[in-house]
Amino acid sequence: MKKSVIGYPRVGSKRELKFALEKYFRGEIPIEELIKTSKELRTYSWLVQKKAGIDFISSNDFSFYDNMLDTSFMLGVIPERYKKLCLSKPDTYFAMARGYQSKNGDLTALPMKKWFNTNYHYIVPEFDDKVEIRLDDSKIVEEYKEALSCGVQTKPVVIGPYTFLKLSRFSGKKQLVDFAKEISAAYRNLLKNVACLGAKWIQIDEPALVLDMTDEDKKLFKTMYNDVLEEKPIKILLQTYFGDVRDFFDELVNFDFDGIGLDFVEGKETFELIKKHNEIKKQSGTCLLFAGIVNGKNIWRNNYEKTSILLEEIEKYWKGEIVLSTSCSLLHVPYSVKNEEKLDSTILEHFAFAEEKLIELSEIAAKDKNTLEKNKKLFNKQRILEDSLLKEKINNLSKNDFTRLPPFAEREVAQKKKFKLPLFPTTTIGSFPQTKEVRLNRANFKKGIISKEQYIHFNREKIAECIALQEKIGLDVLVHGEYERNDMVEYFGENLEGYVFTQNGWVQSYGTRCVKPPVIWADISRKNPITVEWSKYAQSCANKNSKKSVKGMLTGPVTILNWSFPREDISLKESAFQIALAIRSEVLDLEANGIGMIQIDEAALKEKLPLRKADWYSEYLDWAIPAFNLVHSGCRLETQIHTHMCYSEFIPIIQDIDNMDADVITFEASRSNLEILQALKEKNFRTEVGPGVYDIHSPRVPSVEEIVKALEKMKKYIPESKLWVNPDCGLKTRGLVETEAALKNLVAAAKKVRG
Ligand code: GLN
Ligand code: ZN
Repeated sequence: MKKSVIGYPRVGSKRELKFALEKYFRGEIPIEELIKTSKELRTYSWLVQKKAGIDFISSNDFSFYDNMLDTSFMLGVIPERYKKLCLSKPDTYFAMARGYQSKNGDLTALPMKKWFNTNYHYIVPEFDDKVEIRLDDSKIVEEYKEALSCGVQTKPVVIGPYTFLKLSRFSGKKQLVDFAKEISAAYRNLLKNVACLGAKWIQIDEPALVLDMTDEDKKLFKTMYNDVLEEKPIKILLQTYFGDVRDFFDELVNFDFDGIGLDFVEGKETFELIKKHNEIKKQSGTCLLFAGIVNGKNIWRNNYEKTSILLEEIEKYWKGEIVLSTSCSLLHVPYSVKNEEKLDSTILEHFAFAEEKLIELSEIAAKDKNTLEKNKKLFNKQRILEDSLLKEKINNLSKNDFTRLPPFAEREVAQKKKFKLPLFPTTTIGSFPQTKEVRLNRANFKKGIISKEQYIHFNREKIAECIALQEKIGLDVLVHGEYERNDMVEYFGENLEGYVFTQNGWVQSYGTRCVKPPVIWADISRKNPITVEWSKYAQSCANKNSKKSVKGMLTGPVTILNWSFPREDISLKESAFQIALAIRSEVLDLEANGIGMIQIDEAALKEKLPLRKADWYSEYLDWAIPAFNLVHSGCRLETQIHTHMCYSEFIPIIQDIDNMDADVITFEASRSNLEILQALKEKNFRTEVGPGVYDIHSPRVPSVEEIVKALEKMKKYIPESKLWVNPDCGLKTRGLVETEAALKNLVAAAKKVRG
């Protein structure tokens, strides 16, 4: 069997691209040096795939920033305001990605959005009315030639016209349909040009086919591809990933594609679709099936036995040749296990990062008995530290464990009585500026340069300062500042049993930003209290003066799970409940230690919402919301539970958010729209709410008037008794000066609105 890889990581195993880009942005290296680094990275990825015997290797999967942005450039979709800067091509590109500062004012970057259900973010293409579609395929041509000169014949890969249009924004009068025809024509020319280069195949990625499709969408796809495929000069692999194409399977196999790439890992129905369409045996004679069987998103070794059984089944129903493939681009996993020196080999042998996945493809194809046997042994090993008591505890959970009593209305009355907060109480989301010294203190403690006592002493001083500052500013509900954490998930991972951490497991999140998700290795449990001492100390500082409440600060189970590499041997639901029980113990300990308000952040709750509506509840919300309920259902009536979310686009699941049954929710809303406010009103949203009144992503200090205006608007939709006043998100990336100024204005605005 032949082997194909959809795309390869590009940021560099030591994040070379990130560092080169940042140097270029700071003006420390010329563009030539950046290009040189990028060449080395591409060469490395082609050769490593060639060495592993991959038959279909991609080119043009590299990007200086983002593949969607590359596609915008390929088609000439550049908004007028960036063209007007009259910059070089690369600098126009980076201006769209990151914004541009000039004497005549600042131009903001194009917005970023999450790439389907991954933690990668793409730059949203913008069509204004001045856009004229013009094909510029120089990047594709150059990278194809470059690979050839390394001795590698590649399949160039491009994002398909349907996905590109579906993910674009139209800022003028012209809409999607007004551009469809010209875009199809550009792709048709692209095919010709790529064929002229001597390429045998091109891979066209259409992941938008795994989203729900309307009749109009189907029509759009058909119209465009009828155009694109006219006089097709090259073999086309139509590649999908991140799910199944259940809305469109019949139509898809009827197109004149030479190969179809389907995801058998996340595509729950992919196999059934093939099976049900048994008759395609007749039709698919010459069409290759690129079967995505090696998970491109998680880091565990493939189970060869299971995969072989699946492949045998697929072979029964697919008459054409089958090519083994990754389920999606390997962009979403780190480079290689070889770069991990600290983890025990008994752990590492269970991991497969990008490079190891290449070998897996070869081994699955080779079907060597010894290899299969070795793989089987690995899966039979008792690797997980199973906690039988925990299992039993989860099995025995009953409805009561997921229900907080008394109901919200009673709690609201009791809490108002207890806390005696003014109307429109002011608060922040948790973190305060993480200055150099704060980070150094953590780093020095980790390296053993300072003692635990010194580390704690420093943080306590910071906490005392932070409380005093908030009291001076006049905030109503305080926070301790989160100086002990670098990251809201890593911190809890490090303090819970069951997690392991990689040294170099970097995955690109967007542009130059990478994340290193912790790995859930075993059953999760909490051995000791994690945050209690910090919170107790912070509250004691406040008790000396203002006697105001300091919120305990935790990360919720769904967010901890969503930002980790999850286990595959137990369900996500089970993992979520394990984490929930651990955080629940922390909540109860905080409560027992006199902490009256506890915030449980669910910054990433919406991230893993299934792509298709039909799967929202059965696959996700039916356990995700209960996991949150489980965390706080044991609290006393007067303990006020807060939660925070880093977005406000939750209208479709607004009822589920209310069902989390928190007492207060804060969320990002400064740039937001009336829609969310309207929805809160219409749905009679019960939870008290703090829609962020200013954007913390920029150092700009909002004026009092501006915040008053935002509040006046919010008051029209949210009952006065339920409205909180707070920034959008945590302040850890901000400077101290602007933070103090902004919060002062926030407090002044709240006072003004109170009258
Ligand atoms: N409590 C966290 C903070 O303030 C929340 C961060 C987040 O939502 N991303 O930093
Ligand atoms: Zn946030």
